[in-house]
Amino acid sequence: MKIIDGKKISEVILEDLGRKVTEIKNSGDKIPHLAAVLVGNNPASETYVNAKVKACEKTGFQSTLKKTEGTIAESDLLGIVRELNDDQDIDGFIVQLPLPSHINEHRIIEAISPAKDVDGFHPVNQGKMVLNLPCLLPATPYGIMMLFENCGIDTSGKHCVVLGRSHIVGTPMSILMGRKTSPGNCTVTLCHSKTKNLEDFCRSADILIAAMGIPEFVTGSMVKEGAVVIDVGINRLPDPSKKSGYRLAGDVKFDEVAPKCSRITPVPGGVGPMTIAALLTNTMKAAGYKDIKI
Ligand code: NAD
Repeated sequence: MKIIDGKKISEVILEDLGRKVTEIKNSGDKIPHLAAVLVGNNPASETYVNAKVKACEKTGFQSTLKKTEGTIAESDLLGIVRELNDDQDIDGFIVQLPLPSHINEHRIIEAISPAKDVDGFHPVNQGKMVLNLPCLLPATPYGIMMLFENCGIDTSGKHCVVLGRSHIVGTPMSILMGRKTSPGNCTVTLCHSKTKNLEDFCRSADILIAAMGIPEFVTGSMVKEGAVVIDVGINRLPDPSKKSGYRLAGDVKFDEVAPKCSRITPVPGGVGPMTIAALLTNTMKAAGYKDIKI
């Protein structure tokens, strides 16, 4: 079994992006600029946004963080989105999800200019993704595609089972794995909360991608010998022995599953850092460097 070291792979990608930024700077052109909007004080969201800002600093991207109260009215948040759409200096921006329940996430996402939608959540980008047209791909699934590519994992003709059908992870992941691309060209099964005999589907998977948000759901008996397992889940479990009071767990019971598979992503250090690498790659594309090959 080999661990897929997402942290290391993402660092190489960030270094490549950093070199590109230096080139841009040296030629006197505008440095790519990513903005993030953080609504309220959800601790996990704060951690993710801080990691994104840190990655910008590391690569030389310009970054702007806009924080608002969790009580912000939807109309005011829409105002911030419009400002960012109109700001010529901002190349791309994200509104960190989840949003407080009084705000309609779809309305916010649809207000983002598709050209600046570096999280790849806008219906225009998702539609183009389905049609295999150039677009900004959803960051987490894009990061996972980069993992397959960087690790030289052959996905063609394989049975890929995706667990979870959210619009930001599971559904776009299933589309990307089924597209006529490399990586891609899989036969895909998308499982969700209403799937019957989910364990049987899992056991038939050559590639299993878990994105349900249920800690350690996938156990050893659910995985075929030699499968590739990608664990997207980031769950906080109470752990009084930690200074933070919690530990991170994926959707996969790592100790049971790892010995059975050929490759597996750890949590943390697997998909998480790749999401950030994909986000910055999207920002570079949004800044006009569309052919950037990472
Ligand atoms: P979500 O809650 O929006 O979606 C979960 C999906 O899982 C749903 O489609 C639901 O149908 C499915 N599901 C729930 N219970 C199920 C069950 N018993 N059997 C089968 N399917 C079931 O979650 P999300 O936003 O897609 O995130 C999923 C996980 O991935 C979370 O832990 C989240 O923190 C993590 N995540 C990680 C990254 C990263 O960068 N690593 C990025 C985004 C999300």
